[in-house]
Amino acid sequence: MLTGQCDKVRMSDFVFLNLPENYRLADALADGKQSLRWRTTRLNNRIAIGDRVFMWQGRGNTPALRGIHAVAEVVERPRTLQPGEFDGYWQNDNEKAVNDEHTLLRILERAPRGRQLQQALILNSLVLRDKGVFTGAMGVNFSLTKPEADELYRLWRQHVDVQQSAHGSDDTVSPVDNEGKFDETAREVLERTASVLAEKSLADLKVLIAKPGRLRDANAKQVIVAGRPRDPAVVAYAKIRAGHKCEIGGCEMPLFRSTAGKPFVEVHHINPLSQGGADTINNVACVCPSHHREAHHGVDAAVLEGGLRTLRDRD
Ligand SMILES: [Zn+2]
Ligand SMILES: [Zn+2]
Repeated sequence: MLTGQCDKVRMSDFVFLNLPENYRLADALADGKQSLRWRTTRLNNRIAIGDRVFMWQGRGNTPALRGIHAVAEVVERPRTLQPGEFDGYWQNDNEKAVNDEHTLLRILERAPRGRQLQQALILNSLVLRDKGVFTGAMGVNFSLTKPEADELYRLWRQHVDVQQSAHGSDDTVSPVDNEGKFDETAREVLERTASVLAEKSLADLKVLIAKPGRLRDANAKQVIVAGRPRDPAVVAYAKIRAGHKCEIGGCEMPLFRSTAGKPFVEVHHINPLSQGGADTINNVACVCPSHHREAHHGVDAAVLEGGLRTLRDRD
């Protein structure tokens, strides 16, 4: 019986290692943090949404902090982070490992501060005593066999006064499927929802945009894309406002018709979401796929951004 796993099918089990001199895990957990991003340098191809992760604090300079501090589940596959996605618990900028991928974890169960599952108890176990991660092997991410995971979880429940995370208490975290592992990626859900809303008037869409998600119909709610809530009504508004044309001045790129029957255009955030830009009608523009790529990767990206900003300021 696995508590906290809801009715999900259990997938793989991992131990992820932290050193207290890199990241203040004990503080983050004591502060009630519901999710955190963990550096993943190995096994990245095998880490999947729904996998279980034991959060081990290892070697480090403070033996008293060694042990399993929490059990978590993977809610987003490993990826590199934007600077703004590192939380305030990193000891300093040098420890942030900006070039490594990080995996978003939701905490299911945590030990009370200072009362983690101790290293000594793990090393007493015949099943776990030879597992290198618990005796200082190099590396950050380790996989567990089924028997190892069962044994570790048994010890965890036996020796730790486990605090469960309230189910669904953190509504900013829902599973993100960046790589299209499921039939429909979050981005496609956003586009599909927006295309249904595209039959509405701009005035109706403005009313909808002002509505919080909990008051909206199921088919008009915000969608989490790459970790951020996106409003399908903003997407629909931007496309209708532009008449389903590219808003880059003088654009003559041919547009194919989408399956929704409209010219295929995309919605771009003038001030990027990753840099604190808002998901609002004043911060988006409707662009063709080619100009959209150019707005992100082109040498003249700043010129395009300036043009779109001027256009929005005139609305
Ligand atoms: Zn964009
Ligand atoms: Zn264009």
